[in-house]
Amino acid sequence: MAPAPTTPDPSADAAASGTHPRPHDGAVAPAGAAPRSIVVVGGVAGGMSAAARARRLDEHARIVVLEQGEYVSFANCGLPYHLSGEIEQREALLLHTPESLARTLRLDVRTRHRVTAIDRVRREVSVVGPEGPYRLGYDALLLAPGAEPVVPPIDGLDHPAVHSLRTVPDLDALQAAVGELLRNRPDGSEAPRAVVVGAGFIGLEAVEALVTRGLHVDLVELADHVLPPLDPELAPLLAEELAAHGVGLHTGVSATAVTGAPHGPVTVTLSDGTVLPAHLVVVNVGVRPASGLAAAAGLELGARGAIRVDADQRTSDPHIWAVGDAVEVRQAVTGALGTVPLAGPANRQGRRAADSMCGHRTTPQQPVLGTAIVRVFGLTAAVTGASQAALRSAGITHEVVHIHPSHHAGYFPGAEQIHLVASFAPDGRLLGAQAVGRAGVDKRIDVLATALRAGMTADDLAELELAYAPPYGSAKDPVNMLGFVAQNVLDGTMPQWQAGELDDVRAHALVLDVRSPEEYAAGHLEGALLVPHTELRDRIAEIRAAAAGRPVAVHCASGVRSYLATRILRGEGIDARNLSGGWLTLTALRPDAVAQPVTV
Ligand code: FAD
Repeated sequence: MAPAPTTPDPSADAAASGTHPRPHDGAVAPAGAAPRSIVVVGGVAGGMSAAARARRLDEHARIVVLEQGEYVSFANCGLPYHLSGEIEQREALLLHTPESLARTLRLDVRTRHRVTAIDRVRREVSVVGPEGPYRLGYDALLLAPGAEPVVPPIDGLDHPAVHSLRTVPDLDALQAAVGELLRNRPDGSEAPRAVVVGAGFIGLEAVEALVTRGLHVDLVELADHVLPPLDPELAPLLAEELAAHGVGLHTGVSATAVTGAPHGPVTVTLSDGTVLPAHLVVVNVGVRPASGLAAAAGLELGARGAIRVDADQRTSDPHIWAVGDAVEVRQAVTGALGTVPLAGPANRQGRRAADSMCGHRTTPQQPVLGTAIVRVFGLTAAVTGASQAALRSAGITHEVVHIHPSHHAGYFPGAEQIHLVASFAPDGRLLGAQAVGRAGVDKRIDVLATALRAGMTADDLAELELAYAPPYGSAKDPVNMLGFVAQNVLDGTMPQWQAGELDDVRAHALVLDVRSPEEYAAGHLEGALLVPHTELRDRIAEIRAAAAGRPVAVHCASGVRSYLATRILRGEGIDARNLSGGWLTLTALRPDAVAQPVTV
């Protein structure tokens, strides 16, 4: 129900008539106490979590949710999957309406009501609704305004062919454009073309959706590889998957201009001079905290201009809380301050803020891990904790281990390889993990995220007791394997070298390839000595002679056979080190290092 276009909102003033005793954990509000007035700005993930929790804690509070858009409580994470057609019904994305929220939670939800200012002295917000401006008083104010899209410096972004994918209206516009392109496509003609700018999580989901709908897609990313948070040795797996689905990949370049007559096809010019034809363009290059309202009210801001909050989500004003994409968070591993525009933290913060506003027991905010996951056609990529790049820039000493186990028992049909990378502190503490694969990635990354939160070490991972039967895992689960490998690295049982050290290793060590002659023939490092691991014990003298006092840098395909070889050589007194992740990791990072295949 829209409020009267008067200033101020009379009902709000009555409710905002000052402070009152707050019922504590499970307490009953004193009879006759004025109802608390809670105002929430932003009615989606964080805001709606807070409003719903506040109602569950306080039956009598006056709770008003102000949302500038047309929809509340919609599933923004589901938007790409309606575009693809996987979520068939648009209504499935609209989890609630103001009416359903009034019915079930007695919330006063006002869509198309934009908060334009906060008067902290009078504890009022200024609102512009469909029927004009008004003011609304509060005892407790929650800011959940989310994020704003970063607008990249591309000429012609106002062309009608250019879209974004952030809101339900964005989705509707994209759906209409795609539908029209497909309907008007002459029989036998080439697929309509789209250019997606930005290969982050949402950009990749948009690519998948558009390809699924039958469009040809070019993907443009400024960073050197797709999904920039991913470690560089994993990203090529996604690039291959994209290429296998016909996606044209343009990394290390930016889009500079969109040109074309209105309502017709366009061309997208890239910074390297490439010109891509397109019928539609989707731009999603990241977000920044929507903290303008908070800044104008003089609330303290932190990293990236995000709203600074305490462990209970309270801002620098004791009557104002803030949650979600708009707030500053601390990264759990590096301690860096920043933002984490993800739905999980926003929802949990909303619940915490409501607890705090209602005087309930709170669970103080933990630093964030940034656990995230994305599907790219048949592959899944997931991250938790600090990436290698983040650890390097924070100056945190760490060892990186790479493994490529099967997601369940190799002898059970359907086993798929998981590519897992994890970083450990010298004392064994897990610092971060990433995984890419066709199955079982979500389970491993969630176990590792839990381990990170619990401060677990390599020893702990090695001892984790995880569910096992052949269709689900292995007696030594990939997570246990990570622990075993890290134990070996950290206690010196298996010294290792990294693919990133290749040039240095080639200059100062003998590279020993312990794969089979067939694998060697299909591609190897120039100058590497081939000694299959089964022949190793008989050829120690030959290896010692070839090394001529230099260390021996051993490798196989994945790191398993070369681990055995490393142990044999070290048992013979040779300074041998194993390539972390083997040929699979090396060739992902350094495809240029592979010598031409030879015939044997
Ligand atoms: P939002 O949910 O964005 O809500 C903020 C609301 O505040 C908006 O509706 C806005 O209109 C309103 N608002 C802003 N200013 C005002 C004002 N002055 N007055 C009134 N209203 C205002 N995260 C994941 O973890 N996993 C995913 O798979 C995932 N997929 C995503 C897919 C898409 C397409 C998008 C866009 C996001 C996705 N996210 C995902 C991110 C996730 O949706 C956000 O992190 C989360 O919604 C943030 O919650 P929030 O409450 O801070 O902001």
